[in-house]
Amino acid sequence: MAGTEANKRLHWYRFPVIFFANMLQTKTKHQSNSVAHHPHSGGTNVSTILIVEDEKDLAVVLEYNLKREGFQVHIAHSGEEAFAWINHNALPDLVILDIVLPGMSGVELCRRWRQQEATRALPVLFLSARGEETDRIIGFEMGADDYMVKPFHVRELLLRVRAILRRQQPLSPTPLAAERLSSGSLLLDRKKHQVFIHEQEIPLTSMEFKLLEILLTHKGEVQSRDTLLAAVWNVNNNAIQTRTVDVHVKRLRSKLGSMGELIETVRNIGYCLREATPGPPR
Ligand code: CA
Repeated sequence: MAGTEANKRLHWYRFPVIFFANMLQTKTKHQSNSVAHHPHSGGTNVSTILIVEDEKDLAVVLEYNLKREGFQVHIAHSGEEAFAWINHNALPDLVILDIVLPGMSGVELCRRWRQQEATRALPVLFLSARGEETDRIIGFEMGADDYMVKPFHVRELLLRVRAILRRQQPLSPTPLAAERLSSGSLLLDRKKHQVFIHEQEIPLTSMEFKLLEILLTHKGEVQSRDTLLAAVWNVNNNAIQTRTVDVHVKRLRSKLGSMGELIETVRNIGYCLREATPGPPR
């Protein structure tokens, strides 16, 4: 029995490596004209994919193939690493999540994400090894968008990734919320997920966007660091995490240039975004 398991493992393990070698060859062959038909050359929105996979060879193969398709990729080798990464970075557009991980399992990680407002809708594609009870049951009970059983063909994974991302696109903003929030020439467009100052777009990460969105929604009201942590990052008070708010506010301010002055530090409490005074900002 143990021998069969080992065989299976070896079988699927070798699979992507062979595929990887093929991809490398293909790349070399087409390198000279690869610029002309880059899959994402038409758009500016590059989707970010977080791979949570402890098996490093497989993670590398997935990373290579996803990057080649034009995606931005980040790898976490454990559930804890992935959980921390998401709390400190912009939400990825999709997570490829292995179920059996050292420490926190993929299922537990997904459960935690589903419990937090900020990560509730995070698209997750589970990876499981054949025979794990998780296959069908947990995958979909945990709100998986899809799952694949190892061994799988990388090309099929890419197709499924694309399918999930396509389904995510028509997400509409909260119907009750105002589509546009502003203070003076600072404008946040929820529908477009864009921020403008004097009609000039300011590129923000999704955390910075969310932070600004909350400050603008509660314009003139002081928001404590804890409140912001809960609202933007969906985590409870914690000494290390509180600094996260400060770091993000600092970055957001600097991106907003002179409009960054609208965000006031309220000593020992948090931050407050005030209404811009009429006239051009200094
Ligand atoms: Ca694993």
